[in-house]
Amino acid sequence: MGARISRRGFLRGAATAIPLVAVVEAATGRLSLDKLSPNAVTPSDRIVDIHLHFDENNPNFIRDLVTLAERINLTACLLTPYAHRAQVADAAKQYPKQIVPFGFVDLDAPDVLTQIKDFHALGYRGLGELEFVKKPYTDVSYLPVYELASEYSWIVTFHTGIVLRRSFDQPEDVASYRMRAFHLEEIARRFPRLTVIGAHCGNPEYEWAAEVARWNPNVFFDLSGSTLTKMSGRLAEFKNFFWWSGQGEWKTQTPANDPSAFIKLVFGSDSGLDGIAQVVKQYRALFNACDVPASTQQMIMGGTLASILRL
Ligand SMILES: [Zn+2]
Repeated sequence: MGARISRRGFLRGAATAIPLVAVVEAATGRLSLDKLSPNAVTPSDRIVDIHLHFDENNPNFIRDLVTLAERINLTACLLTPYAHRAQVADAAKQYPKQIVPFGFVDLDAPDVLTQIKDFHALGYRGLGELEFVKKPYTDVSYLPVYELASEYSWIVTFHTGIVLRRSFDQPEDVASYRMRAFHLEEIARRFPRLTVIGAHCGNPEYEWAAEVARWNPNVFFDLSGSTLTKMSGRLAEFKNFFWWSGQGEWKTQTPANDPSAFIKLVFGSDSGLDGIAQVVKQYRALFNACDVPASTQQMIMGGTLASILRL
């Protein structure tokens, strides 16, 4: 979970790069895509967002999401609370290009396995964002959840790193060490049929996150949250974490056999609908600062997830 980006911040994010201008203006409704050249948006420009939370406070959320998604060529993995499972399952059937349903469960809920089976029966494609756990992710009590998700060959998205504090005056049983990125290594190795996504790239343990991703073909990270804001003046430092581009001696399988270390990233916004374009802009800034090849950028922004989800 991350701070919602204000509409003002979003508008301030309008950039000079042509594709982003199209995204931003389309998102704000100032420019419809039919006013763009026919080639302005192609299937390969599809953005797949691994990290969009269902907004229970917006009664028109599905309508607003679909409108935005059609305008900017977005497919959202929609992280859906159990109570909204049927509504989102229906929406995903109606708008399969815009919505991929993911089940949002509490790993510590006594009926978590039943909930997951219910999600699966409705056509859900994965779980997430797992977070606020009472024990470290690798605790044996959570293994049946991963086993079931593995049977389904699902994608499972975990919050990693520092986590927000929901209450400042009440005791909370919450600790970010239980959600450290290196826990994903054991889960990925025990369950090779799972695709394991770490949200927030382990903030601030980027080095651990990257190294876990390097050795595990079924692990990827998104860079949602505060990281790209915090690092905005020193984005080139990510080359130190994702350092092994072109060094093939590990022979770890990568999507499209892409030799760039940055292939281990996927796009995730973790923002409100009016914040997605700003996160796109932040990813583009990272790509520029780190000389990420165009083909790798395309995989990060959507190609990798489109392939895994067979979109
Ligand atoms: Zn999170």
